Amino acid sequence: MSHAAARLAAIHDRIAQAARAARREPSAVTLVAVSKGRSAEEIEALIEAGQRDFGENRVQEVADKWPALRARYPDVRLHMIGQLQSNKAREAATLFDVIHSLDRKSLRDALVQAGWAGPTYVQVNIGEEEQKGGVAIAELPAFLSELRETPLNLAGLMAIPPAGVEASPYFALLAKLARRHDVTRLSMGMSSDFSAAVMLGATVIRVGTALFED
Ligand SMILES: *Cc1c(COP(=O)(O)O)cnc(C)c1O
Repeated sequence: MSHAAARLAAIHDRIAQAARAARREPSAVTLVAVSKGRSAEEIEALIEAGQRDFGENRVQEVADKWPALRARYPDVRLHMIGQLQSNKAREAATLFDVIHSLDRKSLRDALVQAGWAGPTYVQVNIGEEEQKGGVAIAELPAFLSELRETPLNLAGLMAIPPAGVEASPYFALLAKLARRHDVTRLSMGMSSDFSAAVMLGATVIRVGTALFED
C-alpha cells in the first residue's frame, strides 16, 4: 500500500469510529482532501488510492494545477474552500463543483451573475472573530432568506472555528444554526478536530495535513 493509501485508510477508520460513536452512518460523511499547495504528484497518489473530492483555496492555483488532472480523472470533484473575490466568480464557476465559502452579498450577486448552479455553502463566522470571513451569526437569518430568493443552490453551512481553543462548542453551534434554518449539510472539521466534527454532525470534513503528511 502507498503512503497516501495508508493515510487515507487511517482517516476513513477514524471517520467510521466517530460516526459509530454518534450512531451515524460513516457514508454520511464526505471527506474532502485539502490539496492547496500540494503537487500534482502528491494529489495523484491520493486519486489512485480512491480519493475523489479535493479542496483548494486559490483560483489561480486550480487553473494551473487541475486541468491536466481533471482530463485524466474526469470524476474528480473540486471544492472551493477559501475566500473568493467577486471578480473571480465567473472563473471559479468554471473550475469548481462545490463552493464552501459564500460569505457576503457581493459574492452572492457575482455568483448569480456568473450562472453558478453548483452546491453552495454559506460560511458562518462562528467565533465572531473580527478578522475572519463569514456571515455574522446575527445576520445569518436574513442572509439565508435572501439567498433562498436567488437561483443559487444552498447546500449547507460551513465554518472554521477559532484557532487554539476547543472546537466542539463551535461545531455544536453551527449544527444548531443549521437545524434552526432547515439546512441539512454541515462543512466542518479539519485535521486536528474532524472526529469531534463528525460526532457533532459534519456531513463534509476538510482534511489537508493528515492526508498529505506522515
Ligand atoms: C487548509 C484548510 C483546511 C485543512 O486544514 P488541515 O489542518 O491541513 O487539515 C480546511 N479548511 C480550510 C478552509 C482550509 O483553508
